[in-house]
Amino acid sequence: MSSSSGKSTHILVIPYPASGHILPHIDLIHQLVIRGGLDITVLVTPKNVHFLNSLVSLHPTIETLVLPFPSHPNIPAGVENMQDVTIDSLADISIAFGQLCDPIIHWFRSHPCPPIAIFCDTLFNPWTHRLVSTLGIKTIGFMPTNAQFFFNCFSYIDSTPSFASEITLKTKDNWGLLINSFTELEGDDKFNGIKGFMKHDRVWGVGPLIPIKAGNKERGGPSSVPADELMAWLDSCQVDKSVVYVGFGSQIRLNKQQMEALGNALEKSGVRFIWAVKNDHDHLVVPLIPSGFEDRVAGRGLVIRGWVPQALILSHPAVGSYLTHFGWGSVLEGLIGGVLLLAWPMQVDHFSNATMLVDQMGVAIRVCEGLTSVPDSENLMKIFTESIKEDRPERIAWMKLREKALNAIKKGGSSYKAIDDFVTQLQS
Ligand code: UDP
Repeated sequence: MSSSSGKSTHILVIPYPASGHILPHIDLIHQLVIRGGLDITVLVTPKNVHFLNSLVSLHPTIETLVLPFPSHPNIPAGVENMQDVTIDSLADISIAFGQLCDPIIHWFRSHPCPPIAIFCDTLFNPWTHRLVSTLGIKTIGFMPTNAQFFFNCFSYIDSTPSFASEITLKTKDNWGLLINSFTELEGDDKFNGIKGFMKHDRVWGVGPLIPIKAGNKERGGPSSVPADELMAWLDSCQVDKSVVYVGFGSQIRLNKQQMEALGNALEKSGVRFIWAVKNDHDHLVVPLIPSGFEDRVAGRGLVIRGWVPQALILSHPAVGSYLTHFGWGSVLEGLIGGVLLLAWPMQVDHFSNATMLVDQMGVAIRVCEGLTSVPDSENLMKIFTESIKEDRPERIAWMKLREKALNAIKKGGSSYKAIDDFVTQLQS
């Protein structure tokens, strides 16, 4: 595909520096590149360059624009990614990135074939307006969440100025908006509602975006346990859908009481499991794994500290259920892998994600709620044991939804066609 002038169309992609945002941007860029006709430059700061390794090795034509992370009084020096801070830094990271406007303008003006659009995370909306109005180009927003979350944001814009309301209000200025979801999951209503708010039809459901194959082993960084060893351990489990995976994304850290409740439940349940545990945000404190836990569960459970190849784990046939914080990226990886989700929503969109999938659709099981809540160990133990049974109604309903998701992304499916349509409209 090429533009009506026959020339290739150049876009600058600016992902927000958090795993749950950079990774779906990468998966979407992959989809755009295989459509053809687009030249893509991706802007990252030095400590996030590694996220692009698999993408660039798969598509060497992609250019990388590396600019230094601008300093901000509330962000510790050296931090360039949300995984090293708490959710309170969400707005500050966006504001810090705003200082890149001038270097971007300088890069743009010296480029022989500058972009016709910036394609960026809607979390950057507070400052992209200045950029596109100076350069006279379009903004395309991408938010790696679902239409329901966006629809709710539009419906309840706060009259008192806040980061959240500013993002939502400025999304209306975007030429187009892409959402990592699909109409068969959410129906047309939510997408149409968003089009109504935006006052145009350039809103596309393009998900679930599939993790690019080449990136699976090193998606987001090298695994703290060699991926091949992990896969060999899962292969040795033999029984399909018999392993419980426990992980809370890139950003959440559990406290001592939560770790103990979880450890007790895993230990007493007798299930096979993988438990992904993160160091605290400054990487200094060793995770609070209950004393002696790993010896007592040796052979049947694996505790992995640091980065895990999550997409790879969730797509292994031995994995049956997943206790998750309900971040949208993790939810979609669980859907693609056909793994029953046990929901422990903790912050921002996790709650509305759980409302949709647990309460409205009955395709997942809620086990706890809240960032500091401590689950009841006995109850959690029973849920773990139940969650690997084949005949749970939630699992059956989830697998039907999975079929629809896979149909949406295959050639001729709704999300596949949406990406085609987006590229065509961008080039016309
Ligand atoms: N992820 C991973 N390994 C980890 C932690 C996270 O591969 O150890 C990936 C995960 O597969 C997902 C993304 O990081 O693609 C996290 O996105 P999500 O929206 O679920 O949550 P967040 O981390 O933004 O809270």
